[in-house]
Amino acid sequence: MPGMPQGKAAGERCLHLDDAMRCRLFGRPERPAFCGGLQPSREMCGEDRGQALAWLVRLERLTAP
Ligand code: SF4
Repeated sequence: MPGMPQGKAAGERCLHLDDAMRCRLFGRPERPAFCGGLQPSREMCGEDRGQALAWLVRLERLTAP
């Protein structure tokens, strides 16, 4: 992860998120491949931002070391 040499811990805000919660690296070659590999789906995104964030929190909890 550019600028985060130790990686991003679960629950840690990525330093590339801007104030509007958009990725500053989107469309740029520095964006990690694993970010682009996470494709949106109905299951993941739900009906609104709240449902999407709840899914992400659950995923981070389930994959925490
Ligand atoms: S897509 Fe990747 S680089 Fe961009 S904000 Fe999210 S975690 Fe950070």
